[in-house]
This record gives sequence, structure tokens and C-alpha cells, in this order.
Amino acid sequence: MLNTKPQSHPEFKTLSIFQLLKIFWQGRKLRPHEKWNREQIKQHQEKELRKLRDFAYSNSPFYKKFHKGLENSPLHELPVLTKKELMSSWDEIVTDRSLHLKDVENFLNNLKGAELYRDKYYAYATGGTTGVKGIFIYSKKEWFKFFSIAIRSSGWINIPFHFGKKSRMAIVQSTLPWHVAGGIAFIKIPFVNMLALDTTEPLEQIVKKLNDFQPNLLGGFAENIHTLAKEQLAGRLRIKPDTITSTAETLKKEARKAIEEAWGIKPFEEYGATETGVIASECEAHNGQHIYEDLVVVEVVDNDNKIVPPGEYGNKILVTVLWNRTLPIIRYELSDHIKLDTKPCSCGRIFTLIKEIQGREENVIHLPGQAGNRVAIEPDLFFDNMVLLPIDGWQIVQEKEDTISFLILGPHKDFKEADFLKHIVDEIVKHGAKPPSVKVEYIKELKKTKLGKTITIQALKKGEK
Ligand SMILES: [Zn+2]
Repeated sequence: MLNTKPQSHPEFKTLSIFQLLKIFWQGRKLRPHEKWNREQIKQHQEKELRKLRDFAYSNSPFYKKFHKGLENSPLHELPVLTKKELMSSWDEIVTDRSLHLKDVENFLNNLKGAELYRDKYYAYATGGTTGVKGIFIYSKKEWFKFFSIAIRSSGWINIPFHFGKKSRMAIVQSTLPWHVAGGIAFIKIPFVNMLALDTTEPLEQIVKKLNDFQPNLLGGFAENIHTLAKEQLAGRLRIKPDTITSTAETLKKEARKAIEEAWGIKPFEEYGATETGVIASECEAHNGQHIYEDLVVVEVVDNDNKIVPPGEYGNKILVTVLWNRTLPIIRYELSDHIKLDTKPCSCGRIFTLIKEIQGREENVIHLPGQAGNRVAIEPDLFFDNMVLLPIDGWQIVQEKEDTISFLILGPHKDFKEADFLKHIVDEIVKHGAKPPSVKVEYIKELKKTKLGKTITIQALKKGEK
């Protein structure tokens, strides 16, 4: 099983000034694209898509078969790639024939920090929102691109990267090295004084460290930033950041409100996935998140993979990543419910806006607490502990207020049910809940809702017992 404890002595990687400049330069080169018109974006996407597809057909045995006879068909006629399919065909999808999923998984199991795989690749794992484990890999060159896209919007939102004057950046997110957020937490950036806090640290400890550190930039998972805003409003946290960024989950309306009340500034959200890099970012006009249409093609679709018009929620999105080659991502399904904006943004940038991403509150399980209270168990606890189990997939159902079922798909022979249950109950209890009653149920396929969405964590709705 993968290590789910934050590393006490992680391996850090320090970027050289040259590498830092390269990252900034890559970001800068993209700037003019933001002033294109729709026709220029369309032409650019078509050109880049052709290059990507030609490369995939020559170097990926999977895509050669998957798109057979469709090599010249338009994107929207190509088959959809699910994570399940991607994982079962991993060795055939990758374009370096010496890469094998089993070896990369072994490597991730022993990862300490920001080490490279075979001195050539960065690898990350994710449970995502569908409960199927994913392993993704980037060449060194692609990783720099990944990083420069992650900070692309810093130019829009005035992130204080002042050369010569050290920025103080605090991030509260996963610091597990196989998690993409953790992987980045182990990068030391010149001129940036970084404090990486793990979401599983006790809140008082996080608050104390932040009070001592006094960041001018605070970033992290949306739910954690919301909690910190409440700590600031309660007077226990006393920091004065100039910029707040959030990733990984959707910032709920009440979280935005609390952040504005606590610090007098509006937060910036970023939307992305381990397999795609950052897909969209919020600009200074705070109207939604601009899709990086020069780097990815996003189709918002219904369950039949038909385009859903702007202004309406889709059931999922299909993403095509134009810039990576090691593990090409073409029409890859992400289960997020997204609504595009019908109007352009007032900031003048041409990229389409994501108006809203439906929150995943249904994923938060509330359990009776040890102090007679109710304790919220965030999805991260389950994702962090389930993602690298030797199983093919999982779902969690809160059957009753104090009863949780773990639905396990295709356990491998080294999956140990009793050890797993003990570990997960211990983790839940650490968060202040009474030990729930738990059981494992083995399933033949992941259950879907009437709408065809696979729900990974199904919490009891308010009022249900
Ligand atoms: Zn804008």
C-alpha cells in the first residue's frame, strides 16, 4: 500500500534560477494567445490537435487501435477514453515502450519527495472523483510545462513573485509525495520562502505555524482555505495575505464570503486534474475561470457525449491535452458537472469562462463526534487512504448516521480487508468522530446513479438517519 503519512524527512528538489526563468519564459510566451480571436483559437487547436494525434498514432499502440479508421475524423467523433480504460491499457497508451505501469506503481510506493523516475519522468497517482486509481506520468520537459501552466495566472492576479525580495508562500494541501499537490510542495523555488502544511495536521498546529510564518500568499485546497478563513474570523488565526488561491475542490459560496470577510480580498480558483494539469483559472475580474483553450480542448457534454450549450450544466467533460506526449490524453472523461458562461469576460481575455463547477458537498460524510457534536469527514481522507490500495476501484456509502460501507471492486490477492478497516477507522477517529460501524462489500462493477454518474462517496443527505 502507498504511504499515506506525510514524510518527516522528504526529499526536496531545488529549482535553479535558470529553471525558474525557463518556467516564467514558457508562461510569458503564452500571453499573446490571450488576445486572439475565436478563429485564431480554433486554428491553433486544430493544428496542435493534428500534431498530437499524428504523434499518438505513430507512438502509442493503444491510440493506433482505438482510433482505427477515424484518423481523419473530427475530435467529437472519436471514442471517449475513461480512466478505467486508460488504466487497463496503460502500457500501450504511453509513448515510451520502456514504461510499465507496474514499475511506476512500485516507484510511487517508495517515493519520498520530488524524485524523478529513472531520472527522466515525474509520476503521480490520483483517486480523482470516480474512485478508480489513476497513475500519470510526465517527462521532465512536460513537467516544466505543467509547472508553468500552474503559475500561468500569477501574471493575471498579481502574485507577489518579487525578485530580490523573498515571497512568503504558505500552502495547505496534501503533502503526500505521490499526490500532484504534494509533489509540488517538495519543490524549492528561488526567492520564495515556502511553508507546505499537510491537511491532516491538527488545525491548531496549522494555525500556529501560519501565525509564526505570516505568509503573503496563502494557497491550498478550497475546504482548508475556508476553515482557515473561519479561524481568522474567530481571531485565532492572525495573518494578512495579499493573495489567496484555491484548488482541488470548488469554493462554495459561503467559503468565498468567509474569505472576503476574513481578509478583505477575493480568492482566485484554479481548476485542473492530475491527468491534465491546470485546465482553467480565475482572473482579476472574478467572473469565473478561463479555460486555457490554447493548451486544452474541453467539451462539456451530457451522458451520451453530446455537447451541452453554454449556460447549462453538463454531466461530464471530455478533455484533450494538446501539450503532452508521454501519456497522450484525447477525449478523456472527467466526471465534473460544469456550466460554461454565455458571455465573454469583462477582463477582455478571449478564453471561454467556466461559470460554475457544481460543488461536491454530497461527498462530505458527517459522523457523530466524540464530544457529542457532528464531525465532517472530508473526501480527502478517503481518497488519500484508498487510492493506492491493491484494488481496481471503490465507492463509499454512508448507510446510516454511524455506518459506512466500503464497496470494493476487483481486490487483488494482497488486499487485506481487516487491516484496511482498522486503518480507516483509526483515521476517522483521529478526526474526532466516534468509531463508525464499517464493512466491506465486494462488487462486480461500480454503481451509477440514474444520471449515469459514478458517485465515489455517497453521504447521507441532511435529515436522513
Ligand atoms: Zn476574465
